[in-house]
Amino acid sequence: MAKKRPLRVKLFSKIQLVEDPLSGLLSEQRHIQPFAATKTYICPGCNQEIWPRTGHLVIVPLADTNNRRHWHTSCWERKNRLPKN
Ligand SMILES: [Zn+2]
Repeated sequence: MAKKRPLRVKLFSKIQLVEDPLSGLLSEQRHIQPFAATKTYICPGCNQEIWPRTGHLVIVPLADTNNRRHWHTSCWERKNRLPKN
């Protein structure tokens, strides 16, 4: 029998692992394309709505996937540039 290789399926093109600044949990950062955004979300960075058809980011804690958060891309980048205090 052939040696088993790790399964490597790329479902999302740009998955990155990040630390969720809200929960401190290791999380997946996914880019949501405009065509895939069908609902309105509240961005925790600015407490404003992310409208459908808007490209944005979703942060999914690996240990708590129901607790995912949707962020405006610009809010997420701002949050991660600023030092924590
Ligand atoms: Zn925002």
